Amino acid sequence: MDNLVVGRFRWYVSPEEYPDMPQLVLHMVSQVIGMQEVDQQKMMEFILMVKKCYRNNPYHNFEHAFNVTHCMFNILQRNRDIFIDLEYKSLLISALCHDLDHSGFTNNFLQLTDDTLAQLYDESPLENHHYRTAMLILSICPIYPNMSQEMYKELSTEMKEAILATDLASYFKFRIKLMQLIQENQLDWSNNRHRTLCKAIIMTGCDLSGSCKPFLVAKNICENICKEFYNQGDLEKQMGLVPLSLMDREKSQNVPEDQVQFLTVVVLPCVELLKSILPNTEDLFLLATSLRETWQEIIQLKGHKSWRQDDSVLAVH
Ligand SMILES: [Zn+2]
Repeated sequence: MDNLVVGRFRWYVSPEEYPDMPQLVLHMVSQVIGMQEVDQQKMMEFILMVKKCYRNNPYHNFEHAFNVTHCMFNILQRNRDIFIDLEYKSLLISALCHDLDHSGFTNNFLQLTDDTLAQLYDESPLENHHYRTAMLILSICPIYPNMSQEMYKELSTEMKEAILATDLASYFKFRIKLMQLIQENQLDWSNNRHRTLCKAIIMTGCDLSGSCKPFLVAKNICENICKEFYNQGDLEKQMGLVPLSLMDREKSQNVPEDQVQFLTVVVLPCVELLKSILPNTEDLFLLATSLRETWQEIIQLKGHKSWRQDDSVLAVH
């Protein structure tokens, strides 16, 4: 395993390396957590069971979980002095588990169709399900055999906060709070509430890191998201509803504009915030900035006026 390659944010697993993903996860675990307190056999079983519990969706699949874990690995490795032992143990595993058993539909759709998950959980039905599934697998494969009951409880709380934070609806709330703390120069890593906000933004940053890759990689990821969204859009049409533009396959010519808007409104503010709390994550910001420039060039080449992007910038400020 070449640490120099995997240790870069821009790295992305290639199709030839897909069969190696479980082994690569084990490598990342051994680097971040260390193997002294880990049952290696159980950890391997855990990783394989997690892999099995990801469905074969175009986007929300094990490859996405792996990519998010890789981004988390890089953030944790660059900031060895910031986190405590339990956080290394929870954040990397949360990244791996954060979309377990994802059905390929959004929370809105689950609520709209009164899906069982929406009946079970009032808020963030998907993320609650991912967390519950993670805890179920952990109970079957106890990867930390020497962990006290009390510590295990803390681990489970950390994982719940981390996985629930990947609901973008929560991200917008956390972002406002964290931005305020930074603007007032009040951010204090020793304050637990502040720390939780930082970890939530880190989880979102990792989840969105598919937009922090070189253009051809990011374009491929974007096509997979579109495939998943169009499936939902088709069902919405069958139900007599009007899907969002980015879920409507007949509006696929809007993809570059939609990407610029998503990068401007969601991704860039997140990785910029991440850069201000952890300056050594700057590459994520630079990669997302360059990706937006490429999409903008494509819009200009098509002769489209990128008015939607200007709109978004106005809306953000
Ligand atoms: Zn995700």
